[in-house]
Amino acid sequence: MQPIDFRPLTTVVIVGRPNVGKSTLFNRLTRSRDALVADLPGLTRDRHYGRALWEERPYLVIDTGGFEPVAKDGILREMARQTEQALDEADRVIFLTDGRSGLTPGDRTIAERLRQRGKHVTLAVNKVEGMARAVVTAEFHELGLGDPLAISSSHGEGIGDLMDEVLGGIPVPESSTSSEKRPDRPRIAIVGRPNVGKSTLVNRLLGEERVIAFDQPGTTRDSIEVDFEENGRLYTLIDTAGLRRRGKVFEAVEKFSVFKTMQSIEEANVVVLTLDARQDISDQDAHIAGHVLTTGRAVVLAVNKWEGLDAHRRDRLRQDIARKLGFLDFAHHLFISALDGLGVNGLLPAVDAAYQAAMARLPTPRLTRTLMAAVQKHQPAKAGPFRPKLRYAHQGGHNPPIVVIHGSAVAHIQDNYRRYLENTFREAFELRGTPLRVEFRQGN
Ligand code: GDP
Ligand code: GDP
Repeated sequence: MQPIDFRPLTTVVIVGRPNVGKSTLFNRLTRSRDALVADLPGLTRDRHYGRALWEERPYLVIDTGGFEPVAKDGILREMARQTEQALDEADRVIFLTDGRSGLTPGDRTIAERLRQRGKHVTLAVNKVEGMARAVVTAEFHELGLGDPLAISSSHGEGIGDLMDEVLGGIPVPESSTSSEKRPDRPRIAIVGRPNVGKSTLVNRLLGEERVIAFDQPGTTRDSIEVDFEENGRLYTLIDTAGLRRRGKVFEAVEKFSVFKTMQSIEEANVVVLTLDARQDISDQDAHIAGHVLTTGRAVVLAVNKWEGLDAHRRDRLRQDIARKLGFLDFAHHLFISALDGLGVNGLLPAVDAAYQAAMARLPTPRLTRTLMAAVQKHQPAKAGPFRPKLRYAHQGGHNPPIVVIHGSAVAHIQDNYRRYLENTFREAFELRGTPLRVEFRQGN
């Protein structure tokens, strides 16, 4: 079974003029990952930040294209604040240009900025399908950013070579110490958009006397980790995006950052997604929820500021959550007030339950029996001459639990059948609070 990886994600930022194909490339890189969660009702994609996989290793892609409305006057405005911030966070940069329009003054300006920053830049010339690559890329050498790579984002050409070049040579860090040293306790990230009450909740949860250790991060990339104890159980709270400790309490002292939120989610095994009951569910809430889901981390949904709301508002909010965050229906929903303590006692028990579900051991004989009973009840649909036949199941991982099913013609299994099996396993093993993945393997 694969060890859980808590390392910060390598971050790749895509920059370039408008219309060179940045979002097309972003979609291509992140789509494979999305396939796991693709057709969940209500799940919307974050158009700027995505998690992708390269040879089994996850990385984060940031598309700087959608950040700001296209400036009327010149390229410098386009390389605006958010892009600069994304570049600060980048381990690697893909500078995308357009082989059909050729080298432009805008490309030269961007190249100059990138050279000043001294980041690892890979120059790619896009839209080259059907063209003579050497000819198209020739003039881009003069940007002084190394050999340009010819790609076609829309046709999927040259993408493998591109990512080899972009991510190659990144040293694989030592395996995470924290995960190996302390598998005994949940690692919790409390996330949510600004002002939902994260710092209030953290302070209430910690109540100083419970804190037993506190690591100040060595670099901005490291997480703060706080170990604490409650009812004789140990927990680690990891840097909740945007929070810093000032004196004895935590405060939201930083600007909210999706990037940091995603890193915190990555380094947790249980995510407490915090919502503000006084506001409707926003796209930002849904995006954060979507990021949690793509990592497969366990989730507790904490609806904060619940005190004193009338029945009408409470109903409306419950409906809003069911409609917009329905894909988190496997999670415990808690209605709390971080301010006056209402319901906060339920939070750690929900975290424990989610953690146990995420780490559950699912024995092969019971998995296979459950599978057989499910198939007997409903056979997978026939696709043309093919009737998928499912033979046995075993566990392929945890956090999230992965159930690997072996059989024949498995490529013909429909998504709704996969979901039927997921639900069956979830019920049989009482896996509340964690996503669950079902994968199929052809043959034995
Ligand atoms: P962005 O503004 O840099 O994010 O660019 P988009 O991804 O929105 O793409 C701009 C246009 O270029 C769209 O019409 C895309 O369909 C098109 N495009 C993107 N990649 C390719 C490609 O590899 N080949 C061709 N021919 N067109 C592409
Ligand atoms: P953060 O940005 O998510 O860390 O949010 P804060 O913890 O700083 O809280 C934002 C605001 O919401 C502050 O004014 C808090 O006092 C308030 N707040 C936090 N929790 C509650 C709550 O349970 N009920 C109410 N009514 N207000 C709260």
